Amino acid sequence: MANPVILTVDDDPVVSRAVARDIRRRYGDRYRVLRASSGPEALDALREVKLRGEQVALLLADHRMPEMTGVEFLEAAMDIFPAARRVLLTAYADTDAAIEAINVVDLDHYLLKPWHPPEEKLYPVVDGLLEAWAVTPDAASAEIRVVGHRWSAPSFKVRDFLARNLVPYRWLLSDDPEGVRLLDAAGATEADVPLVVTPEGKALVAPSEAELAALAGLTVVPACDFYDLVVIGGGPAGLGSAVYGASEGLRTVLVERRATGGQAGQSSRIENYLGFPDGVSGAQLTDRARRQAVKFGAELLSAREVVGLSEAGGARLLRFGDGTEIAAHTVVLATGVSYRVLDAPGLADFTGRGVFYGAAATEAPSCVEQDVYIVGGANSAGQAAVHFSRYASRVHLLIRGADLTASMSRYLIDQLERIDRITVHPHTAVVGGAGEDHLERLTLCDTRTGEARSVDTSWLFIFIGAEPRTDWLDGVLVRDDRGFIVTGPDLLAGGRRPAGWSLSRDPYHLETSVPGVFAAGDVRAESVKRVASAVGEGAMAVSLVHRYLEAQ
Ligand SMILES: Cc1cc2nc3c(=O)[nH]c(=O)nc-3n(C[C@H](O)[C@H](O)[C@H](O)COP(=O)(O)OP(=O)(O)OC[C@H]3O[C@@H](n4cnc5c(N)ncnc54)[C@H](O)[C@@H]3O)c2cc1C
Repeated sequence: MANPVILTVDDDPVVSRAVARDIRRRYGDRYRVLRASSGPEALDALREVKLRGEQVALLLADHRMPEMTGVEFLEAAMDIFPAARRVLLTAYADTDAAIEAINVVDLDHYLLKPWHPPEEKLYPVVDGLLEAWAVTPDAASAEIRVVGHRWSAPSFKVRDFLARNLVPYRWLLSDDPEGVRLLDAAGATEADVPLVVTPEGKALVAPSEAELAALAGLTVVPACDFYDLVVIGGGPAGLGSAVYGASEGLRTVLVERRATGGQAGQSSRIENYLGFPDGVSGAQLTDRARRQAVKFGAELLSAREVVGLSEAGGARLLRFGDGTEIAAHTVVLATGVSYRVLDAPGLADFTGRGVFYGAAATEAPSCVEQDVYIVGGANSAGQAAVHFSRYASRVHLLIRGADLTASMSRYLIDQLERIDRITVHPHTAVVGGAGEDHLERLTLCDTRTGEARSVDTSWLFIFIGAEPRTDWLDGVLVRDDRGFIVTGPDLLAGGRRPAGWSLSRDPYHLETSVPGVFAAGDVRAESVKRVASAVGEGAMAVSLVHRYLEAQ
């Protein structure tokens, strides 16, 4: 397979040569570097690359070009290679245009000229962008192949699991010639999908998530049976705890039931996380945090769900879904929240077959030229609307209230207003869904008049209120009436310590009603539902773990 392409565009021949030279010097052995001197010429080059079936990893365009500006070029290039990373080269005077481009063309980065020395100003940016591109399905080369049916919920689950765990794969429909060939070779039929084939040729029919994790090289079995710290949940709070725990010398294991990143991993662009003025995708942030945790020596277990917590002497025992256990001195519960199920007749039948909870980024390319419906008025729904508007012909955002001002950040509302393809439908609820083998129709209702209408669509993405899934902690520690875990001073009702509290001190700030067990992030009662606060609480929990261990 040919090396993926990095394309640079600049009308100034001197600058153009210099950019291409610097890029070639560092990436030339793994990427094919192409150079164009205008937007139209670069678009022709991209079309040729497309026809040859090759991939484009990165586009680097100068902004001020006579025939077509860099932003105009990037916008047109998105139609040909939507997953390619986009960088704008600008002079200082053009930074406003660059900032504007962040919204218009979902710009990944803008670089100010001159970019010398490249080791400081160019390569770190390009390294990060190529890393992020390398985990998109477009980048897959010697990859896992998944053969499935477009409207099969198990096929969707496999793809979603691989995508969220940042495992590159190639998706083949079961009636594609190549899909049929793979099914034949594995002795399987269309009725058996999903079929997963590794680069080594090992084939698995309808694998479980644990089998899939093992197949993709993710760790599923703990290396020890006793740890200083077990972190449950691999979202920002859990990853924060794992990074700080491991870097501060604690034997740390993080257990995640699905994919590291949690809710944040589903975000197409987090704009308000400190230190990322151009925003950062959830996948990118997760990938970096995960690598950072591993670098410090944390163990990350995937596709393992913790279903029980108990005390045995000074140790905390954690039971997995398969009945096996690990023990630890301390625990951080960072299990976050999950979307509530939208309870409308007919919808449950189509989960994974047109009805999706969360962004389901794997589905976006299939929505091309179609109408997409999104339910929810919070930032997560707004981000999804922006993301899907790059693919769908129209995105309908359904909200119960009169407008978005009470539930969504101003910057996102502004962004939505600028995109013609997005329509916000106030006072609208989904009250039903119907179809044959997949969702084909929705019934919408005006919440003021009760009037119902039917719309044709195969795509519904749901982002409604979130709830903690903490039933497994019932009777073990104190939760509030919605299931969020109560910690620290909030446990001291009327100045009294919680029932069963055995120590002569009050619970520490993030400590639960079980000494040595802490809670961080969205699962904690009264927490702020933000990436930054989750990471902060994850870090803070580790400092309290130290305090707890020192007193033992
Ligand atoms: C689409 C979207 C966009 C968002 N955008 C932004 C944004 O731009 N800015 C911002 O600040 N915030 C944003 N948020 C909110 C932010 O992502 C959350 O506040 C943050 O992820 C909370 O982190 P957490 O670690 O507490 O929980 P989560 O991210 O919910 O992670 C919890 C993890 O625990 C795992 N888990 C749960 N139970 C178990 C168990 N029993 N065993 C093992 N693992 C378990 C889950 O699988 C999950 O991976 C967004 C949320 C969504 C959904």
